[in-house]
Amino acid sequence: MQFNPRYPTLSPKLFHHQQPVPLKGAKSGHFNEALANQLNWSEEDKQSWIEICSGQKTFAEFEPLAMVYAGHQFGQWAGQLGDGRGLLIAQILDRNNQTIDLHLKGAGSTPYSRMGDGRAVLRSTIREYLAGHALNNLGVPSSHSVGFTSSEQGVQREKLERGAMLLRTSDCHIRLGHFEWINQYQSELLPEFTQKCIEWHYPECLEAEQPILAFAHKVIQRTAVMIAKWQLVGFAHGVMNTDNLNITGSTLDFGPYGFMERFRPNWINNHSDHHARYTYQQQPSIGHWNLWNWLNNLAPLRPENYEKEQWKEALTECLEHYEPTFLEHYKLGLSQKMGLPSFHKDSFDCAMAFLRILQTEQLDYTQSFIRLQNKKYEVIKDDCLDRRQFESFLSQYEHIRQGQDIVELNAAMQTANPVYILRNHMMQKAIELAEKNDFSEVERLFTLLSQPFKKQVKFETSADLQPLPSDVPEVMVSCSS
Ligand code: AMP
Ligand code: MG
Repeated sequence: MQFNPRYPTLSPKLFHHQQPVPLKGAKSGHFNEALANQLNWSEEDKQSWIEICSGQKTFAEFEPLAMVYAGHQFGQWAGQLGDGRGLLIAQILDRNNQTIDLHLKGAGSTPYSRMGDGRAVLRSTIREYLAGHALNNLGVPSSHSVGFTSSEQGVQREKLERGAMLLRTSDCHIRLGHFEWINQYQSELLPEFTQKCIEWHYPECLEAEQPILAFAHKVIQRTAVMIAKWQLVGFAHGVMNTDNLNITGSTLDFGPYGFMERFRPNWINNHSDHHARYTYQQQPSIGHWNLWNWLNNLAPLRPENYEKEQWKEALTECLEHYEPTFLEHYKLGLSQKMGLPSFHKDSFDCAMAFLRILQTEQLDYTQSFIRLQNKKYEVIKDDCLDRRQFESFLSQYEHIRQGQDIVELNAAMQTANPVYILRNHMMQKAIELAEKNDFSEVERLFTLLSQPFKKQVKFETSADLQPLPSDVPEVMVSCSS
């Protein structure tokens, strides 16, 4: 493994060095060998992955640290937060020479734990492990995990649960909330911190006439693309607080997330989201809100040749690109999912008509696209109460496709429509077995989600494909983790 310990070169006010506190009797959970290979893990480190993923062994080349940050939670200023139960245990170079953070979650309390115990439970660890794997393989930028361990040591939540530790990777653990913390508590650190963010994550912006504006543009662009991808695969993050979004637009800290089953845009997956702030359909506008909030933190970086108002306008102008970027990626992705030409003037309307059917008929989002892809039109129609609505959609759909390059459109559908998503009930079963020390279902889902676009008869069960019966309410996920 090759180390690049760059975060510790920042002001020590931004972090606290400490070692993990191992859980007692940690045992193997699951290990992602392919990811370890991508990260150039040595054979020796692979042999001792259980010790590394349970906080018993750390690397001499990197002194573990907890980061401090702040944030807006559910739209309210929450003040200082920080890594309350996770530690950055290394920054290493992957096979592409990209710096990747190794972050150990559940590693014990830190000065930023507030009332928390510094631990993570097996349930939420498995949820994060599998979802990171699913998102990466669905082509959505996201944190990923090398592995997790579990322990008999109990961790108290609504009930006593098994403790666990997750070793996750991300290209960046710098959150929008880092900027909020600095502005609120140590504003003199802002110029250098921003400079480092640009150097590390957007070096191309250093060449721009105004590197800070170029940086803001990029962060906004990447966030818009990430959220467009979430919408396309039906992913609801669940807790889009400003401390849970990073500056590289890769998905992070998705605790009470869910993959949508029946198409309900106002679906809430997070049990604690009483005001329905983070529903699936709200995600694009919440992304905008978070970025607007973040941009205010760049106001003090006004260059000398800008008047105050002019600088404010320049920052605001960056945000004007958010919606068009989101729409461009969403529309393109949706036309691929539909097998419609993106350039056709009626494609988006037609896709919207399909989504309206899914919504009114409460059809399964993922399976409906697969049925469309497999030309199982009658099967979709049979599930509809209002068959005329479907027939009218279908005639428009076939009309648009007439005379187009069907082979190409069908091929696009196959790369855009997953056969498998991580349904809550699939995860639930894997968790229940893992709590009895049986990780076979985690292994099966891991395999299935390694190639979510490919039908894998050998590994699938019929439940993996089925929408929940319409009289079964979807699981709402507890925020406690
Ligand atoms: P989250 O919304 O899960 O990303 O967490 C929000 C904040 O609470 C972060 O600062 C976490 O580090 C902290 N936190 C969450 N759970 C715990 C815990 N069990 N112990 C200590 N801190 C925690
Ligand atoms: Mg968080």
